[in-house]
Amino acid sequence: MTITTLTRSAAVLAVAAACSMAQAAAPMAKFQAPGFYRTTLGDFEVTVLNDGSIDLPVDQLLKQPPAKTNAALAKSFLKSPVETSVNAFLINTGSKLVLIDAGAASLFGPTAGKLLANFKASGYKPEQVDEIYISHMHGDHVGGLTANEQRVFPNAVVRAGKLDADYYLNPGNLDKATGEEKQDFQGAMMSLNPYVKAGKFQPIIANSELVPGIKSYFNGGHTPGHITYVIESAGQKLVLLGDLLHVQAVQFENPGVGVNFDSDSKVAIAERKEAFAAAAKGGYLIGASHLSFPALGHVRADGKGYDFVPVNYALPR
Ligand SMILES: [Zn+2]
Repeated sequence: MTITTLTRSAAVLAVAAACSMAQAAAPMAKFQAPGFYRTTLGDFEVTVLNDGSIDLPVDQLLKQPPAKTNAALAKSFLKSPVETSVNAFLINTGSKLVLIDAGAASLFGPTAGKLLANFKASGYKPEQVDEIYISHMHGDHVGGLTANEQRVFPNAVVRAGKLDADYYLNPGNLDKATGEEKQDFQGAMMSLNPYVKAGKFQPIIANSELVPGIKSYFNGGHTPGHITYVIESAGQKLVLLGDLLHVQAVQFENPGVGVNFDSDSKVAIAERKEAFAAAAKGGYLIGASHLSFPALGHVRADGKGYDFVPVNYALPR
């Protein structure tokens, strides 16, 4: 070994040491990839938009003993509170751009409200949205419609169940509400009223085809006018379940477990059971607001309950 080789080795070691120091000093990035996931459904393009997440104390919220909930969570390697996704769905039918639900904006704290950023990251502009269909008028589904009392989607017509509009946009009900319940009414009014005033709100009165390929189905257990949306194109089908379920680690295995948020728990349970049975039988895709992002998958029958099978990651074609 010559002196030159030794010097070179020392230099290499010094560089390596400097590099490892530089790596150790790099700060943690602490941000996630943009929250959108794109796939195709027949001739339609579907983009799931993540609005962030909310920590839910599900052992307190589900209508069964906490120990049972905690045991079910442990089987999915989870603990209460469960970090729960908030999602919305953007459907490009080729002739209409339709947003289904709108996220929470500021109504559910700093971990949610990321829909608009993810919508823009997905390659669209708010002015391009033609129609917005709301599953129900809770804040985590309507908050993102407005910012500073202005419509975020200036060219869009917003449609939601008439029963929800009659209930949540009624000032008399706000006056009667107490405590946290008041926030539900205030959030809905703040989010919807700018569209109502602009003549851009149309209540949905009955099950119907809203644009070619997208149909509304009422199921009023979670809120009086809760709606699921069925998307169909070229023989493929996606059913967006809205808030027919909240805790995937518990409610697929046992769809009979209700949640405190439901306005009529019995009806909501019956609707969930029916929706899961139909999805398992039909073999079509489902999406839901609080499934773990990207919130798309299939339902498989498993004994008395079901398994949720998330979609295989795929690039759009
Ligand atoms: Zn919700």
